[in-house]
Amino acid sequence: MIVGVQPLAGFDKLLHYTVPEALRAGMRLGSLVRVPIMNRSHLALVLETDTAPDVPLARLKAVSGVLHEFPALTPDLLELARWMHSYYAARMESVLEAMIPAAVRDGARLKAEKYLEVVRTLAPDELAVLAKKAPKQAKLYAFLKQQFQPQKKSLVLARLGTTAAVASALVKHGLIREEARHVERVAYADNWTGGEVVTGLPPKLNDEQSAVVAAVGENLARKKFATHLLHGVTGSGKTEVYLRAVEQVLAAGGSAIYLVPEVALTPQTVARLRGRFESAGHKTVVWHSHLGEGERLDGWTALASGRVRVVVGARSAVFAPVRDLRLIVVDEEHEPAYKQDETPRYHGRDVAVYRAKLAHAVCLLGSATPSLESFANVKGGKYRLNTLTRRVDDKKMPDIQIVDMRVEAMRSRGLVTLSRLLVDHMHQRFERKEQTILFINRRGYSSSMQCRKCGHVEQCPHCSVAMTYHRADETLKCHLCGHERGAPAVCPACAAPDIRWRGLGTQRVEEAVRRVLPRARLERMDTDTMTKKHRFRQILGDFRAGKIDVLIGTQMIGKGLDFPNVTLVGLVDADLSMHVPDFRANERTFQLLVQVAGRAGRGDRSGEVVVQTFTPKADAIQFAKRADFDGFAEAELAVRRKFAYPPYRHLIHHLFRGPNPEKIRFFADHWVKQVEKALGGAVEIRGPVPSPIEKVKDEYRFQVWYFCARATKVVPELVKLQATVKWPDDVIQVLDVDPMSLL
Ligand code: ADP
Ligand code: ZN
Repeated sequence: MIVGVQPLAGFDKLLHYTVPEALRAGMRLGSLVRVPIMNRSHLALVLETDTAPDVPLARLKAVSGVLHEFPALTPDLLELARWMHSYYAARMESVLEAMIPAAVRDGARLKAEKYLEVVRTLAPDELAVLAKKAPKQAKLYAFLKQQFQPQKKSLVLARLGTTAAVASALVKHGLIREEARHVERVAYADNWTGGEVVTGLPPKLNDEQSAVVAAVGENLARKKFATHLLHGVTGSGKTEVYLRAVEQVLAAGGSAIYLVPEVALTPQTVARLRGRFESAGHKTVVWHSHLGEGERLDGWTALASGRVRVVVGARSAVFAPVRDLRLIVVDEEHEPAYKQDETPRYHGRDVAVYRAKLAHAVCLLGSATPSLESFANVKGGKYRLNTLTRRVDDKKMPDIQIVDMRVEAMRSRGLVTLSRLLVDHMHQRFERKEQTILFINRRGYSSSMQCRKCGHVEQCPHCSVAMTYHRADETLKCHLCGHERGAPAVCPACAAPDIRWRGLGTQRVEEAVRRVLPRARLERMDTDTMTKKHRFRQILGDFRAGKIDVLIGTQMIGKGLDFPNVTLVGLVDADLSMHVPDFRANERTFQLLVQVAGRAGRGDRSGEVVVQTFTPKADAIQFAKRADFDGFAEAELAVRRKFAYPPYRHLIHHLFRGPNPEKIRFFADHWVKQVEKALGGAVEIRGPVPSPIEKVKDEYRFQVWYFCARATKVVPELVKLQATVKWPDDVIQVLDVDPMSLL
């Protein structure tokens, strides 16, 4: 038997080995093995079995070991790896490393603990004899005799201050038994939900939910690939639809993967799944990068063996080696967090769809604000659209009020952090003992300019994205096409002198709230204050328990969380996401507004939302106010079509970085000419231009953008072309296919 393996050791090449008789039984496609390379043992993955080697048989070395009882990758995952390698221009090794958790690759052994248990009962006189002859043995025996179940050896020995030799003697006399037991380490075994009550009893579906469950169920039953996009307004009960789909899969003996965009959202999702399915004997594995090694390995083994058939996790859970995959749920499919920002730069949602296709499974994407990519796929007939138009129990959608901050600034003769409307509403909530959440989106892009009087933001005439402000040479630049002009001293629209970058931090907002509501209990939640793991849980728990009146934070608290007593949500600065130099800025702002608004009024009382902005007439804000996704999508798609942006074309980002800017520029220029010659009409090239952040850690950065109709064609061509150029060591390049951000 000969196998072709991909080493995980910096050799991006298939190597061949023979398989010794003893290892044949466990050798399968996707097995993780150890092989000798240049006299050292390395990990490798079996990609081919029974292949023709490229060297004479006699020269082949032998595989030295197989790591696990189960293959690390299932056949669909092997196929998926090849696709990712080619589509994302990622080295095979990096793809495999992303797919197989480090704990599994390291070959860490399942943690086996030794347990002691009495197997023969001594009569009182026998015990007396033993106590005289060997008092230590008698003591250990007597202790174990009192226990109802086997005891952990290490703990018992420590507790009694005795040694392993004493235990061995008892074993030898046949009085006790020592047994190695595999203890499974279960992540989130405490089932923390931040106080949310999770019951196992499924609610009765409403008509809309029933229709979606039936439509998805039909495809699940047919065992054919299909992608459903579930567009359901916030609070419409999408989760219940996911749960029913998982239920159907489990009943049919299949497996399901359930993806959430953030690690922070896994605990509540896990609790819901366990609450629903554990009593029926179905366990749920948690899968994400913040778990301990042991938890990861055990979870992986449980899935690979088919013992557990449901897995929940962030992005990388899409690679779980489950048996008989029938369903992948992608909750909040629009979230940019699904895109990995290091090699391999894959998009979890797109990989989920592709894996479902390979496995003949159903992919169920859900969101209150679907991505325009997915919406376009619905229009193109690739995805099936299912909708939930009403909140569960016909609860009212929150009322969104827009505050024009230009007027506020004029009234108070200066910038204000909190408008009077917002402050009034906060006072009311405080009196009524209801809760408020204030959002400030993640730090805005401080290098864009916005007039504080009229709200004007300079756009690139060619690219329809905000220009970036470069303080060093007082210029505005477009980092898509390189268009450049001097930074204006006064606002080009209204001639006001006050045009500078702006932005508020969570701290400023906290101070402002303290001034207007000195008696309120405040808590701030952002990446600065959330460095401790349990702090996040604690604050959310306190907030749910009503110990906090006002919660201030970044989007981190905007996602998926359900707090019934929150009746007011304020978005302090909607412009921070809207006027960034990215063609997705409007889409992001619309999503942010709708999602944030969705946090209000989920309990019995209806909710109100206050949005502060300098550009109240902007499409994203107006459509969000009317909760009109279709209207927004149509308008925004028209703009995307006009500029031929995604989803109408694919976008590929090519970064060049290194210590010497002239050298990078030279090579990038040269490269672009090569691409033009080789790919000509297949791509539109913009750049090279300096990156919006020109210098990072003493390295200069330039970028080239490619727009193309088919990335599957263009990416491999680029990679091939790259190999023909002799690149200097100090010019490093990175390709990013379908980037989610232009910043
Ligand atoms: P979404 O994810 O669409 O924002 P959720 O799935 O969080 O909404 O559902 C909102 C709330 O409604 C949850 O507390 C959920 O348990 C509840 N719910 C869902 N479906 C039903 C139903 N058919 N009847 C009663 N309550 C439901
Ligand atoms: Zn431009």
